[in-house]
Amino acid sequence: MKVKNITGYRPPSCGCDSCEEHWEKATNSTFTTCVRKRCGNSATVGGHVINYQGNSSNVSYIVPLCNTCNSIPTDEYYDINSWALPILSTDTRAC
Ligand SMILES: [Zn+2]
Ligand SMILES: [Zn+2]
Repeated sequence: MKVKNITGYRPPSCGCDSCEEHWEKATNSTFTTCVRKRCGNSATVGGHVINYQGNSSNVSYIVPLCNTCNSIPTDEYYDINSWALPILSTDTRAC
């Protein structure tokens, strides 16, 4: 999956304290490694991204990113690993 970062961060409206917590609940996984291919740093933030293939650019996902990858310019596409478990930022079923 190819994604790009988006700005205009909004905290989840579900009551979670952070995007990290939101992602962990939705995936039932632990925040560990940045999902950018060939990165391998520890993930520190729940980054907001949109899917390159998706035409509906208002569909955003949350994925674990390190600070470096979360700072990639918003016009630059990059690959994330197949194990990334991107969740819809609007998915509050597990909250
Ligand atoms: Zn949540
Ligand atoms: Zn990274």
